Amino acid sequence: MKTIFHNANVITMDDARPRAEAVAVENGRITALGSDADILALKSGASLVDCRGGALLPGFIDAHIHLLAYAVSLISVDCSPAAVSSIADIQHALRRRAAQTPAGRWVRATGYDETALAERRHPTRWDLDAAVPDHPVRLIHRSGHASVLNSLALALAGVGIATEEPPGGYMERDLTTGEPAGLLIEMDALLDAAIPRIDDAELARAVHQASDNLLSEGVTAVQDATATNGPDEWQTFRRLIVEGHLRLPVTVFEGYESLGKLPRQALGGRLRRGPVKIAVSELGDEITPAEDDLGDIVWQAHRRGRQVAIHAIGQRAVHAAVRAIEEAWRRKPRRDHRHRIEHCGVCSPDLAKRIGALGIAVVSQPSFLYHSGERYLAQVPREDLPHLYPFGDLLRAGVLLAAGSDAPVVPPRPLLGIQTAVTRAGRLGAVLSPQHSLDVAQALLMHTRDAAWSAFQDDERGSIEPGKRADFVLLSNDPASVPPDEIADLDVEMTVVAGQIAWPPSSRRST
Ligand SMILES: [Zn+2]
Repeated sequence: MKTIFHNANVITMDDARPRAEAVAVENGRITALGSDADILALKSGASLVDCRGGALLPGFIDAHIHLLAYAVSLISVDCSPAAVSSIADIQHALRRRAAQTPAGRWVRATGYDETALAERRHPTRWDLDAAVPDHPVRLIHRSGHASVLNSLALALAGVGIATEEPPGGYMERDLTTGEPAGLLIEMDALLDAAIPRIDDAELARAVHQASDNLLSEGVTAVQDATATNGPDEWQTFRRLIVEGHLRLPVTVFEGYESLGKLPRQALGGRLRRGPVKIAVSELGDEITPAEDDLGDIVWQAHRRGRQVAIHAIGQRAVHAAVRAIEEAWRRKPRRDHRHRIEHCGVCSPDLAKRIGALGIAVVSQPSFLYHSGERYLAQVPREDLPHLYPFGDLLRAGVLLAAGSDAPVVPPRPLLGIQTAVTRAGRLGAVLSPQHSLDVAQALLMHTRDAAWSAFQDDERGSIEPGKRADFVLLSNDPASVPPDEIADLDVEMTVVAGQIAWPPSSRRST
């Protein structure tokens, strides 16, 4: 099947041929591009798609998402700062959901941010009990790294006074009795094992919605960076793709505890194994895993020829990640390892230089600056602010930068990520360290070609070139031709995956 997309301002992201007017596609791959006249000359037997002068770009790649958690967040009670501003609001929202939920069934809620609540604290089990005593409740923090459980949920999860925190975990306790107070940080492994998963049909509905949302934002491929991914998650993704709920290709990171357990790919490349994911968390002065253990984990992956993706936000964690990679590389130098640091929230110019010298890629979240910019200005220590998400310093140090949303932490909206990488402006307009602003072309690269590179997929996707997959996004205008603070307002007019119009649902094809 042959299709020609014509009458477009094609922005290829290929330096050898940056612009064109039309693209020919066959069997899901790009076969030719050029002027309208040249490409329309090939139109015999092809269906034509008139792009009406819009900007046709390579489809956006979300290089760091938690797809299943994002899907579940869509059917959970929304406790994000956009929806609630106090613990009373959370109670109200939970009460409403519980009223529609059979007693005993779990009530799931997500997205709360204690710093955005009027009380400026985490809710407790007792706050949740007061609203919902007869349903187990799990309220997940915006970061995804903490949960608050009500009393029934704690009991069902087997969490009590005798529970010991795992390494790096923390359980808040009542100061007089020692009983758990509800807040559990970095204890997901324990909770996930104890709390029933949502059933398959409900998950399928949620993932269908998540997939539609991503397509409507112009996303044509995602990389799932979840640290607990293993064979079960692989099977879940496989089923969701086969059943048609997940309509875009997924690269699944392999949690380091499952090292070597995932196949390389399946379903004709619609499901692929990505890097080995290692999360380094900071709690007080401690990092988990400890530096020696981290070094060993990175070495085990590197030694096998695998790529690692290390979650590191604070400078201490970033530093530990760099050291671990440096050490593995010293023991066994390897070209083109493409090891990644995820987030890299605080990083000095010197550390950026070490990252660049080692050929490490940074996969970060420019839209965090939009959603949390004002909070960062209020809370990040003054001396760290110039080094917060320092995209400019990283680029100047030769670091390859890619972008992901980290959804469900924030909604997956690449255009907002592109806008914010350029403006560095928070929701209310505060600008953070403008010396790290990128130009539009660089911001686009983060969401296309360099995102593909960061998963060894630059030969397949990320730019519009003959031979690559026909994954496109059609925008109402060229992002470089509108004021930077209006990039996120551009319309996504069409999203094409493997040559097929995947969004909007009714295509507007002409012949
Ligand atoms: Zn993440």
